[in-house]
Amino acid sequence: MNPKYNRTYVQGRDFWRGSVPDQLDRGGNPYFCPVGWSRWSFYVTDNFYQKFKGWSICYHGIKFSYGLAILLSGLKPAETAALGEGIYATPSVNYACHPRYAEVKLIQSSANNKFFKNGTYVQFVLECRVHPNNILLKGPQTLNAFNTKIDDNIGNDVIEWLIDNQGKEMVDFNDPNASIVCTGIMVRITDQHPGLLSQSQWWYHSHLCDYKKCCLLDIDVETLRRLKKSDTQCNIMYN
Ligand SMILES: [Zn+2]
Repeated sequence: MNPKYNRTYVQGRDFWRGSVPDQLDRGGNPYFCPVGWSRWSFYVTDNFYQKFKGWSICYHGIKFSYGLAILLSGLKPAETAALGEGIYATPSVNYACHPRYAEVKLIQSSANNKFFKNGTYVQFVLECRVHPNNILLKGPQTLNAFNTKIDDNIGNDVIEWLIDNQGKEMVDFNDPNASIVCTGIMVRITDQHPGLLSQSQWWYHSHLCDYKKCCLLDIDVETLRRLKKSDTQCNIMYN
């Protein structure tokens, strides 16, 4: 870990408007503030900026059962390859955290300690860097979001990036020549189900289910819809 680069993306903490937070070269792709998320930064290499100058930020949602395996052994190219063979990532953290990609987990009360700030639900998304030359394609969303906007800043039609896996069965984050590297974990902790956040409303106008092999909500979808109908408020908890 690399705590010096941990961040809390909320107004008053680490926050910017627009697509350019600073003078760093991010390969011509926009970097919008991932509001509502905190980043636990990984140590990747000395002289980080020197190596990753011109690389762009993107995200990849993870499920808990795969999370550790991904960190230990790398990312496997997608099995359902809607846009072609490769690794799928997105410049939108709000797309990456759809429960089909990023499991929603109820925090067990025994783990409800300082770490989770007495939150109730948590989601994790990987923060990655990719060199623009390795982005094979910027394609449309694949969650049937035809009548809803996923991200205020990024069009639904260019929200999935297909990354060149360079023919490898596993893209190893520890390989300095990998086409995509993982630079941190994005974490969002909430006091109610994150499906009740305003930024999650597109879930209900695209794909949403509670079939365990698909969307991992840790609540049944009918209960979630009922909570939404009754206007239950959800708050993000920050450290
Ligand atoms: Zn589903």
